[in-house]
Amino acid sequence: IFASVEMAPGDPILGLTEAYLVDPRKEKVNLGVGIYVDEQGKVPVLEAVRRVEQVLARDNLPRSYLPIDGLPAYNRATQKLLFGEGAPVLEAGRVATVQTIGGSGALRVGADLLKQVLGANAKLAISNPSWGNHHAVFRTAGFQLVDYRYYDDASHGLDFAGMLADLGKLEPGTVVLLHACCHNPTGVDLDAAQWAQVVALLKDRGLLPFVDMAYQGFDKNAAADATAVRLLADSGIPAFVVANSYSKSFSLYGERVGALSFVGAGRDEAARLLSRIKATIRANYSSPATHGAKLVAGVLDSVELHALWEQELGAMRGRIHAMRGAFVDKLAALGAPDFGFINRQAGMFSYSGLGKAQVDRLRDEFAIYALSSGRICVAALNTGNIDYVTKAVAAVCR
Ligand code: PMP
Repeated sequence: IFASVEMAPGDPILGLTEAYLVDPRKEKVNLGVGIYVDEQGKVPVLEAVRRVEQVLARDNLPRSYLPIDGLPAYNRATQKLLFGEGAPVLEAGRVATVQTIGGSGALRVGADLLKQVLGANAKLAISNPSWGNHHAVFRTAGFQLVDYRYYDDASHGLDFAGMLADLGKLEPGTVVLLHACCHNPTGVDLDAAQWAQVVALLKDRGLLPFVDMAYQGFDKNAAADATAVRLLADSGIPAFVVANSYSKSFSLYGERVGALSFVGAGRDEAARLLSRIKATIRANYSSPATHGAKLVAGVLDSVELHALWEQELGAMRGRIHAMRGAFVDKLAALGAPDFGFINRQAGMFSYSGLGKAQVDRLRDEFAIYALSSGRICVAALNTGNIDYVTKAVAAVCR
């Protein structure tokens, strides 16, 4: 039966890391990673998380199942972080939130439920470009995919006119996938005024926004980075969905901590949605895992640890901003073409504007690994490698 099974295509990002790992050159740098690493190139363990973990280890409570929709304290804390404490949308009971297996799990459970609701005609509009797994998740759930314009090659910024034009042409009922902040892979975001325009358009045209927020707090701060979600909540739009992830913001990648929120027209609709989300989860993985949710809830529910977390998140963000600045300044000093746009992009990733041939040269001549699209992980830069990387980038730009 298995004899005819063909090999699945390899993941280009994971393939890059494998090539990096076997590269014997000492000066090698991996700019292809999709995680935040600190000045020493390590995935940090946040102090706020460590403190909760110590309490959990001390208490060593029995490991029963969580409810299908996850840890209630986690879901409540998530709602506050997304919508703001006391937000009218929460007071009105319009939001159904469940704990999921990472942001990816939230996208998949959300996609599955939307497919059930929308039926054979389920369509998703997705930014061009977008995170590769967006396509895979929604296509596997049975959606037809269409692109909307987003990245403008010439300015290394947003093609806002193109985006509005493409969204304006979508059929009512189309699901529109939006990156809340720190767009992956480009680093190009909308500002608050642009979000307000997009929200008005989505509402007018009867579109169904699905916001993916995987980097809350990596641009400005947790509240400001949720602008898109909060504008949608205040707009009176009757239905939208949010998938969020704590993988990056809590540096808890392997704990698989995410959440899915369906926002309905009212309390009764939210209750029906919650029952359907739970049925979808039950038939998939039954219930989520305990540990990571307890860590996140433990931090967010403590005034002291919440403040400490915001501070630690700010330090990660600050380091990224500093590396962006240093990258731009050093390249300017080396007489390279202008990279000032890197300072206008946000989050861990940037479309560097480097072409495939330049990316190949970086790897072959300098042992510097980046994606062939030119996407670099700015968080992989540090004071120890920035001079080497910028000199190499300047060389391949000549
Ligand atoms: N959305 C985007 C845009 C992402 O970049 C990622 C992680 N790379 C995710 C969702 C998924 O996050 P998680 O690791 O929590 O599944």
